[in-house]
Amino acid sequence: MSHQRHVLIVGGGTAGWLTAAYLARALGAGVAVTLLESPEIGTIGVGEGTFPTIRETLRFLGIDEAAFVRAAGATFKQGVRFTGWQPDSDGTPHSYFHPFDAPFQPEPGLVADWLRQSELTRAPFAEAVTIQHQVAAARRAPKQPGEGDFAGPLTYAFHFDAVRLAALLADRARALGVTHLSGRLHDLVLAEDGTIARVESDAGTLTADLYVDCTGFRAELIGRLPGARFHSVADQLFTDRALTCKLPYAAPDTPIESATVATAHAAGWLWDIGLAGARGIGCVYASRYLDDAGAAAVLARYLGSDPAELAPRRIAFAPGWQERAWIGNCVAVGLSGGFLEPLESTGVVLIEAAAAMIAELLPPRGPVDRGAARFNALMAERYENIAAFLKLHYCLSRRPESFWRDNADPATLPPRLAAWLEQWRHRPPSRFDFQLESETFAHFNYQYILYGMGYATDAGAADAAAAARAERLFARVRAYGERAARELPPHRALVEQLAGTA
Ligand code: FAD
Repeated sequence: MSHQRHVLIVGGGTAGWLTAAYLARALGAGVAVTLLESPEIGTIGVGEGTFPTIRETLRFLGIDEAAFVRAAGATFKQGVRFTGWQPDSDGTPHSYFHPFDAPFQPEPGLVADWLRQSELTRAPFAEAVTIQHQVAAARRAPKQPGEGDFAGPLTYAFHFDAVRLAALLADRARALGVTHLSGRLHDLVLAEDGTIARVESDAGTLTADLYVDCTGFRAELIGRLPGARFHSVADQLFTDRALTCKLPYAAPDTPIESATVATAHAAGWLWDIGLAGARGIGCVYASRYLDDAGAAAVLARYLGSDPAELAPRRIAFAPGWQERAWIGNCVAVGLSGGFLEPLESTGVVLIEAAAAMIAELLPPRGPVDRGAARFNALMAERYENIAAFLKLHYCLSRRPESFWRDNADPATLPPRLAAWLEQWRHRPPSRFDFQLESETFAHFNYQYILYGMGYATDAGAADAAAAARAERLFARVRAYGERAARELPPHRALVEQLAGTA
């Protein structure tokens, strides 16, 4: 069968290679994919945390779990542990967990039961309603060896080395028939109707039916099209810089965290990610509230080292997205299409969503942009929803610094979040609050943040019989959690076994 669609992807970071492999796998002989990338420009090289959807994507691409763990230096991620996002109480740092697992029992029982318990005596929300809190706290893996690829009793994602992941995806894409060209794109030639007629590059003049812009923040294609508009949410999400570095483990057998640790500071937060060979650490901050030297001092204090000895990489970003990521015969995927901030690791999950949508919305013949309006509406909605979810992490804080006070200012809340918060005073987040095809996070993700941050929902009073039943249920969850934390293997042991380095 002859190839029906020619797709040219420009950019060889995670977005470029993942989209290339995905389209080749999904569309098979119906598509000829070429990827052009410039080694001299290089990739951004950050993005070490993912979302559980990555398991389905890797499986779809035909990559097995052990190969992935080995090639990408990957470890298991069971959620995010937040520290210091509220002020300390009596000298104890505030901390809560956002696990990937849903609450133990189907809605609405357990959540309402927890809300009706006494605030003074009940366990923290994630600890009460899941067993994953105990498993992650004990630095245990989310599964037993031999449980099957990307499967297990607990929901998980991965931490990984971004550069090695892109290399693994590149190998897979080439095996699926993607043509790889090395060279820089220099120019874009537009047709009269504003679509792309051809591109000029070190590899010659290139043409395609569909051009996929995966050139990162440079947005080399979409950024040059008439009609492209960047939708900024800098008035809602204030962070716009990160300083990143790697820190070796103290000893080869140091336990590896199986959750991202997110520690708040005066003008942002720090990520701390346990990779196979080292910890990846980043200080995210808002330049309006903290300068680069101040951020370097925050990072050094966190690491317990001298700022002069650190040589962190500095990355600037602007929170927002392309209002129309698909214009005519050009679609932007990855950082060229948008980025909010590193919190909750939403970069790769947005790439997965975009690649899957392109694969299904691209018609096999005729004009390529028939699905563009739907793609743009769904992607914009997805960004809006993620922006609201990220803002939730900040706006409930009572921290006193001006970054945090301004974040709590109702004028900086996305309208949909303000409306939800009003409703969630009277009932917990429900699955009926959301349109599933444009969501990344579920209602229970919102519950973990709300109740981890101490938000009060009036769920009414429990009668004595219901309260006793709830007590028994919470005791069962606790006992399961203790058993799981005992029986599951240490996180490092499973990683080393899968990687063949044990
Ligand atoms: P890049 O990696 O920048 O790749 C761009 C590619 O385009 C490169 O190959 C480059 O050479 C090529 N290119 C550019 N211009 C040209 C040209 N003219 N000609 C030819 N080639 C060209 N995401 C997560 O999922 N989890 C996280 O924890 C996370 N943390 C992040 C932290 C920070 C500070 C930032 C900024 C981002 C983070 N992200 C995270 C997002 C994540 O890094 C990206 O979504 C992901 O790496 C994809 O990047 P990309 O492929 O779009 O761009």
